[in-house]
Amino acid sequence: MVDSSHSTGTPDTAPHDVIIVGGGLAGGLIALALHRHAPGCRFLVVEAGRTLGGHHRWSWFETDIPAQERALVEGFHLNGWDEGYDITFPRLTRTLPTAYRSLASAEFHRALMAELPADRVLLETKAAALDDGGVTLADGTRLAAKRVIDCRPFKSSKALAGGWQVFLGQHFKCEKPHGLTRPVIMDASVDQVAPHGNGEAYRFVYVLPLSPDEVFIEDTYYADQPKMDADVLKGRVAEYAHRNGWKGEVIDQEAGILPVISGGDFAAATAEVAIPGVALAGARGGFSHPLTSYTIPFAISNALAIARLIAARPELSGADLAAFCKRRARRHWRGTAYYRMLSRMLFEAAEPGKRVVVFEHFYALKGNLVERFYAGRSTWPDRLRILTGKPPVAIPRAIRALFSSGKPLDTKPLDTKPFNMETPA
Ligand SMILES: Cc1cc2nc3c(=O)[nH]c(=O)nc-3n(C[C@H](O)[C@H](O)[C@H](O)COP(=O)(O)OP(=O)(O)OC[C@H]3O[C@@H](n4cnc5c(N)ncnc54)[C@H](O)[C@@H]3O)c2cc1C
Repeated sequence: MVDSSHSTGTPDTAPHDVIIVGGGLAGGLIALALHRHAPGCRFLVVEAGRTLGGHHRWSWFETDIPAQERALVEGFHLNGWDEGYDITFPRLTRTLPTAYRSLASAEFHRALMAELPADRVLLETKAAALDDGGVTLADGTRLAAKRVIDCRPFKSSKALAGGWQVFLGQHFKCEKPHGLTRPVIMDASVDQVAPHGNGEAYRFVYVLPLSPDEVFIEDTYYADQPKMDADVLKGRVAEYAHRNGWKGEVIDQEAGILPVISGGDFAAATAEVAIPGVALAGARGGFSHPLTSYTIPFAISNALAIARLIAARPELSGADLAAFCKRRARRHWRGTAYYRMLSRMLFEAAEPGKRVVVFEHFYALKGNLVERFYAGRSTWPDRLRILTGKPPVAIPRAIRALFSSGKPLDTKPLDTKPFNMETPA
């Protein structure tokens, strides 16, 4: 159900200071940061869906987000595990000490609607066109703005190279306490088999104990094609629950197909989605971790940087803001080159059935190196350390992968919305 107090449908004509198109993770966080850190800024979020944030569960290691930036998400009701997390591989089982956090999109929506002024959010409102002077809605209404930020979803591009991470997760209400106290971030002791006899794939199960009798189980595999067989993944989740003796009812479900970027021409990919004078943010703007596809640390950092810039420079033009985001995106792309190289190692140097060994090798390394990797802040010694030791891939293939430009990304990823359950508004 839509909170009608937030959907006015009768916008006024004075230009908004900022219009954010797409109230997903990035757009919602920018709105929150503007509200808190740029007082007086008249912003508006235009979101096509019935809720902010769509239907996701976003998780992260606490160390992914610098301490001074955590306040932006601390007001949300989060699931949290301070006692670390487990990983399981065929020859390695380990508990790492890093705290883990998770945020359900229903809570993201609830908290933002409670904190943002009622006239700052337009739900169920689709933008048809964006330009440097405002936004034209699908019903033809024109909304003028001094600055426009495009936070619509990621758009795949043949200018980028890589593969895909395909996953489906189910939230179970168990008949009895499940007994799990820590998240299992990767249980890769499962069969390394792609659906429908498509050979082998790196596959793992991800488990979050959301309460003593609620558990979230997600089956993930790395694939060359953005295709999902939801029934196979549901069967695997059910089998995993059964194997652990967890009986219960499925009360929620999410699915995703996320890009794993291994290379490409970032300027060319950005040019396909860029609109002159309009700032690009979120996954669409390139702000994701190439190997894990996670965006939350970058979305938080961008939201705060944008809000502080607008607060400090009220005269800032839309073109200035677009240039600011573009510079940050370029810096992010340069700073994540190492992870794209690791993606190439994964997709090209390692045979599909051996990809599990690449991760097993990685998880045997020191805990704080693993933390910096997930945060996208690996140091040079970390980078060397990850690549040294007994190589999990054949050297000639590794060398070829190192100099390869990767396989172009498929530009028609499947829409995963039909696999998600309805989000209660
Ligand atoms: C199921 C799933 C689980 C994920 N889990 C994690 C995780 O645990 N941790 C993590 O860091 N990342 C995770 N990710 C990856 C990534 O962080 C998310 O995809 C994240 O939501 C991306 O944020 P975004 O704001 O860029 O895009 P989105 O959240 O996709 O937001 C885009 C918004 O734009 C809206 N929109 C589209 N077109 C229009 C239009 N024309 N007019 C108005 N609005 C429009 C959409 O409705 C949507 O709300 C996950 C992704 C998925 C799919």
